[in-house]
Amino acid sequence: MGLSLDSSIQFLKGVGPHLADLFERHGVYTIQDLLEFYPRTYEDRRAARNIASLKADELVSLKARLVKIQTINLGRTGRKMYDVTLSDSSGQVHCRYFRSPYRGYFERLKAGQEVRVVGKVSQSRGNLEFHHPDLKDGVPDEAVEDVLLPVYVEIEGLSSYKIQKLIHLALSQVQNQISETLPLSLVESLGLLPRNLALTQIHEPLIDQAQAFFSQRSPAHQRLIFEEFFWLEVFLAARQSGFKKELGPKIIPTPQQLQEALEKLPFRLTSAQLRTVNEIRQDFASGHPMNRLVQGDVGSGKTIVAFLAAELVIKAGFQACLMAPTEILAEQHLRNAQKVYSQSKDKIALLTGRTKISERKVLMEKLKSGQIEFLIGTHALIEDPVVFNKLGLVIVDEQHRFGVEQRARLKSKGSSPHFLVMTATPIPRTLAMTVYGDLDVSVIDELPPGRTVIETRVTGARQKLQVLDFLREQISKGRQAYVIYPLVEASEKLDLKNATDEFEQLKTAFPDLSLDLLHGRMSSEAKEEVMERFRKGETQILVSTTVVEVGVDVANANIIVIEHAERFGLSQLHQLRGRVGRGSHKSFCILVLGVAVSHEARERTEFMEKTTDGFKIAEFDLQMRGPGEFLGTRQSGLDGFKLANLIRDVDLLQKSRAAAFKILETDPKLTHPENQGLRAALLKTHGPLALAGIG
Ligand code: ADP
Ligand code: MG
Repeated sequence: MGLSLDSSIQFLKGVGPHLADLFERHGVYTIQDLLEFYPRTYEDRRAARNIASLKADELVSLKARLVKIQTINLGRTGRKMYDVTLSDSSGQVHCRYFRSPYRGYFERLKAGQEVRVVGKVSQSRGNLEFHHPDLKDGVPDEAVEDVLLPVYVEIEGLSSYKIQKLIHLALSQVQNQISETLPLSLVESLGLLPRNLALTQIHEPLIDQAQAFFSQRSPAHQRLIFEEFFWLEVFLAARQSGFKKELGPKIIPTPQQLQEALEKLPFRLTSAQLRTVNEIRQDFASGHPMNRLVQGDVGSGKTIVAFLAAELVIKAGFQACLMAPTEILAEQHLRNAQKVYSQSKDKIALLTGRTKISERKVLMEKLKSGQIEFLIGTHALIEDPVVFNKLGLVIVDEQHRFGVEQRARLKSKGSSPHFLVMTATPIPRTLAMTVYGDLDVSVIDELPPGRTVIETRVTGARQKLQVLDFLREQISKGRQAYVIYPLVEASEKLDLKNATDEFEQLKTAFPDLSLDLLHGRMSSEAKEEVMERFRKGETQILVSTTVVEVGVDVANANIIVIEHAERFGLSQLHQLRGRVGRGSHKSFCILVLGVAVSHEARERTEFMEKTTDGFKIAEFDLQMRGPGEFLGTRQSGLDGFKLANLIRDVDLLQKSRAAAFKILETDPKLTHPENQGLRAALLKTHGPLALAGIG
């Protein structure tokens, strides 16, 4: 029997049970998987150098002798760093690793042996060194010079060279079986490389395109990256076209109703808020369920937009619900809703984990009968006993705090209700096109008038006294402050300050002030009491963990001090910073770095001094820390990329999105013969559910 793409890797000559096992542990089961085991980088033997001739920022290949490997323990954190010293006749160079690429990576190497390093030369404190280069042991192919070689992530006991040989062998046997997966017209119109060529070239790179291969932008890369994005976008397009076919509550408020609702508000909406309200209104009137994401920076006033949407839906005879990630936030929303809709206070209710059983029973009855029109709460809303009479609108606040499934469950409590999700973590546009690719997006890109710019300063632990003096000065003017720590209590693993101990310290430093402690391990009652005291101005300094991160709104608080700022993502710092600057007082954010913070972390944190624009911060964070910051692991679809990089490949993402949406627009059911491959692939990658929408 000949080898096919679906053959198990075992059937490839040279792969015995042991190797097959190794491959399987890395997700490679079939020949197809092996062909999709893409090179990590490429090695240009023409760029082979000796140590003395290295230059910063060059990608080079270097043959050298291994002098020694040192393991450096990094403080109490338990983490290790590895320092590999190499030498050749011209000099010495160090390779540094902040983790071991795999278990046994360094143990396989012995002092005195010859190795080949492939990597980029970095400059660090005046010295040239390598950071996380590929270290290849043995130099088996010395005869081969002047070539461009693929470099694979080495698997335990399996060198890059061996992997290369196996892939080469597999390609020689199955290349003519690799069929085109994209619609041919697309391949042609976009000038993409056919799939079989792309898969071949990525493993057998063309030396005259060396630069393009290094930067992962060769035609082979572009073709395969396009395809990775394309499957996701087709899936999203199919979902969206599914939504657009469903029937939802048709709600057409009269201009007078809208006017009345607007007049009831304590302030005039900004033009960005009005635009968003209008977009929502159009969705309501379309007869199809709305699926809209409202993105707006912290403090841009998303809540009121949601309340207005709820009011319109309720006026049309439906119920609405709003789910928030924390009790503190849900309670705050309830208070605000009651303020805005003071006449119909008793038609608004709160449901959280701490709603008493007796209360809960009454509440469920009223909800079922339709007496309660607007239900606000936490995760408690998705529990089974919660049954609505006629749910027309589901609102999810700080939606990134919830999983896909939680949102879906809440939605299923109505029959195709309108769906509004809000997020204050501005998401880079590129990510929005993937994670939220099936949603319509409104952006509130304007803050209510009168907001002052929050002054932000990065300082070190040594400036503690100045920081405390500054706190005292502001508090003496009647203001309040937040002081944030990354941990609740002391931890054995992490050498960081914690809220509980520092709370005691701060109490000693400010014996005449009133301080409170807030963290996630406290009971809900205790948390709410603490928040209530802070809100009323009884507490001057609130020492807290990141539980105050989302949504909390106390206008009189004008300082936030964040300790160990280096531990937080920028978007999270931005959220935390958003707790201040909510009133008319000039506000301050003091970011305190821990000791021995890396240069990179400092630089990253200092970006916060430069801008308060959440979108810019999000873009920067995405570049520095990757998409993980924005997407919980629950947000699937993004972890599946093997080659694509959301930052580098935005152009391909845009192209693939446009192509996918166009195809579903012209052939909504994917019945066209040319789209059959696509239909099959969609089914294969996302399962039958993916086709539910296009049915
Ligand atoms: P976020 O978008 O972060 O959820 P909120 O909805 O909590 O922001 O609004 C922040 C603050 O701004 C609230 O105190 C709210 O009452 C106020 N606010 C919202 N819209 C306006 C407006 N158009 N004019 C003045 N204040 C507003
Ligand atoms: Mg909010």
